[in-house]
This record gives sequence, structure tokens and C-alpha cells, in this order.
Amino acid sequence: MRDLAANPDLLSLNTATVRERWTLPQIIEGCARHEVRAIAPWRDQVAACGLDTAARLIRTHGLRVNGYCRGGMFPAADAAGRARASEDNRRAVDEALALGAECLILVVGGLPAGSKDIAGARQQVKDGIAALRDYAHPQKLPLAIEPLHPMYAADRACVNTLAQANDLCDSLGEGVGVAVDVYHVWWDPALEREIARAGRRILGFHVCDWLVPTSDMLLDRGMMGDGVIDIPRIRRWVEATGYSDCVEVEIFSAGNWWKRDPDEVLRTVRERYVTVC
Ligand code: ZN
Repeated sequence: MRDLAANPDLLSLNTATVRERWTLPQIIEGCARHEVRAIAPWRDQVAACGLDTAARLIRTHGLRVNGYCRGGMFPAADAAGRARASEDNRRAVDEALALGAECLILVVGGLPAGSKDIAGARQQVKDGIAALRDYAHPQKLPLAIEPLHPMYAADRACVNTLAQANDLCDSLGEGVGVAVDVYHVWWDPALEREIARAGRRILGFHVCDWLVPTSDMLLDRGMMGDGVIDIPRIRRWVEATGYSDCVEVEIFSAGNWWKRDPDEVLRTVRERYVTVC
């Protein structure tokens, strides 16, 4: 298992972690101040400052873009909706390539409005990823399926376990992998086995913590060390597959960390990366 204290460059900041008080250019400057060498930016933040500006700032600061957030949201109620999703996903691939991102994270989407057909939604997800892979793979951009906790099955992602994501990878083949986010998968009794099964297909490892109680389904993630997830145990399983990429900190916290001075957040992230992860 890697010694994170000896590997400070493996820390990546998912830019959502400080999104409330800083723009993307401010985040990039903040990363430079705190010697964070990798980021995973979000599309809306990139759009707000402009793709060319974002790409230039990232290059100027020598930042690694270990992932781009995000593509997905494949299921739709009709063919026109699916075509819109497909077009938007191709744009996400183009942006990821312009930023030099190492993969495109996929949050695959849930049920179309009015639908109760989760099996149908999952089929649409599979078809959507297959089509996007045919666009991204020739351009050497891998797609990372991120399974989300089952509480998001209706509205965000109907891929809810690593086993499901691995099944998709098995049937889709090259150009598709997974992102392991401890927040979404820590509870899964099959996690150790499924991480081993994912093997070299693991394209991202995201950390935060599960707070007890959790007050908001989406925006109450904890700082590493403040909750119940045994992060080093999961990291050990991930690294046993040969994973050698970033440890990405991704915290949505409307009531706590988003309200704090982002420099304080980055100092805490840097410290917990070493002491907790
Ligand atoms: Zn994540």
C-alpha cells in the first residue's frame, strides 16, 4: 500500500469540494498555493470560465486532470431526449480531451420522468455507454462508470453497485472502466471481491466520509475522518489491483465545508489525506 505522506502529488481535488466560494480560476490558484497537483473539474465550472481559459490555466499551472465530471444521464422518455443526451455526452468527451483529462466520469442517470421501469433505464444506460464508448475510445479517452449509492437510483444513477458496473465493463469491453467512490460503495458486502474483479479497470478512487446521521441525501458528505468509512481498508483493496493513480477528495457539504474559507478546506484536505486516507 502506498505511503501517502511520501506521495503528496497523488492528492487530487474534485473541484466541487470548494465550488461554493471559488470559481475554477480561483480553485486552480488555490491548488497551486496548497501544492495540489491534480484536479477533477466539473463541466459547469469549466463553462463558466470558458473551455479555452480553463485549459490554458490548467496547462500553465502544470495540473494533472485525473478525471472530468461528468458525462452520463443517458435514460430519457423518448428518442429525442436520448439524442440530446448523446449529443451532450459527445461534447463532454470533446471538453475532456481539450482539458487533457485522463478519463470522463459517468453518472449514468436514473428513471426518465414518469417512468417506473428501472430495468428499461438500465438498458438505456448500457446502450448509451456503448455508443459513447464508440466515440471516445478511438480518441483514447476512457469512460469511468461511477456506481452511486442506491438512494440515488431514481434520480441520478441506476448503476448502484460495483458488481453492476463490472458487469457493464465485461459486456462493453475496451474503453470502459469504473470509478470507486467510497461514499457510494463502502456499505457493500461484496466490495472487496468486486474491487479485485474490477482490477486494472479502476480509473478513479474518490474519498470523503459517511456522516451519522446524514442530514441531506446529496449535500452532506463528510471530511475524511469525520464519519464511519474505513478508507485505508478500501484503498488497500484498490491498490492491490495495481491502481497507481490519484486519491481524489470529493466533498459536497452545503451545511459545513462549503461555508468555510476554501483555504481552510484545502489545508484540512491536505492534512486528512495523510492522517486518515
Ligand atoms: Zn465520486
